[in-house]
Amino acid sequence: MRHLNIAIIGAGVAGLAVASRLASMDAVIFEKSRGPGGRLASKRIGPVRADIGAQFFTVRDGRFQSVVDAGLSFGAIKPWNPRMGYLTTQGIDSSPDTQLRFVGTPYMNAFGRFLADGLQIETEVRIANIQKRNNGYQLTTTKHEEFTANKVIVTTPVNQMSDLLTGFETKAISDRFLMDPTWTLVMKTESQLQDRGGTPLDACFGGDDPVIDFISMERSKPGRENNFVVIQSNPDWAAKHIGQTAESVADVLCDAVRQRTGIIGEPLLAHRWSFARPKDPSVVSQKGIFQVDDGLWIAGDYLFGGRVEGAYLSGLEVAERLLKSL
Ligand SMILES: Cc1cc2nc3c(=O)[nH]c(=O)nc-3n(C[C@H](O)[C@H](O)[C@H](O)COP(=O)(O)OP(=O)(O)OC[C@H]3O[C@@H](n4cnc5c(N)ncnc54)[C@H](O)[C@@H]3O)c2cc1C
Repeated sequence: MRHLNIAIIGAGVAGLAVASRLASMDAVIFEKSRGPGGRLASKRIGPVRADIGAQFFTVRDGRFQSVVDAGLSFGAIKPWNPRMGYLTTQGIDSSPDTQLRFVGTPYMNAFGRFLADGLQIETEVRIANIQKRNNGYQLTTTKHEEFTANKVIVTTPVNQMSDLLTGFETKAISDRFLMDPTWTLVMKTESQLQDRGGTPLDACFGGDDPVIDFISMERSKPGRENNFVVIQSNPDWAAKHIGQTAESVADVLCDAVRQRTGIIGEPLLAHRWSFARPKDPSVVSQKGIFQVDDGLWIAGDYLFGGRVEGAYLSGLEVAERLLKSL
């Protein structure tokens, strides 16, 4: 059985932040999918990709600013200055929003790959269970491989965290930190998003719309050469339609976009996010982390406001706590 010093579950932004800080300490990430990035996801459609998870990120904290600056210098990130609007019952209104936003380039997952550079990541390995053993922990994969580790950090979304840690007390966390689903639709279109007066727009918040939460014209982001529009559904709407097929959801969302924006397009894919974002981003844990056991911590966006920056800061904080505990 292979023994590790530090095992990290999940190669999303939180897990990558932990591993970067602890890189010199034999820290290994286990990731169930084929690559790093988690919800900073870009899906291949023919020869190009579309961002199907986070559409952009913002920076408030200096610690996140440092890594964003490094990503900007490397070319893995670029600023995105969309002309923003918001949906109203009468149509789309332009918004004076001048928030500084960033995107991965050429796609969002480039930021994940940048953070992952040089780290030890075992991809396509899904951890099924974590148990306490002697002075450490035993991890079992879904293929019945076993590892032991001195310290473990779980950075999966909250529901997946409780599934992994059935032998530990995590109910207080899973009762408090709830996550909402989202359906994401990618459509191909020649149309341009515009406000009621005909002014072109690059993205649009759903406001109080019961179906649509966010629309973004992919070609407005630096480096994208496609005519995709990405639509994120309203979380309550997604919860009601979570069991439907991708095809039927795509039809309904296409219709909703046409009615509200006039954009007519061909649906290319609909992706179901069962755990997209925290239900209430104002619910946070102290410093965005939680210690479950002596050598077992949890981190992730849901503990710290639910955005890319929150995920990064949560991961960084857990690494600092672990270092202090040694
Ligand atoms: C549709 C959508 C739109 C969003 N829009 C924005 C936005 O505009 N701006 C913004 O800042 N944020 C946005 N977010 C949120 C942002 O994507 C997340 O806050 C951030 O990416 C979360 O990072 P994380 O590391 O905490 O979790 P994740 O990215 O979920 O990483 C967890 C990782 O754990 C892996 N994993 C899970 N279970 C196991 C297991 N058993 N074994 C091994 N690996 C496992 C997963 O595959 C995943 O890679 C959006 C999210 C979604 C879904």
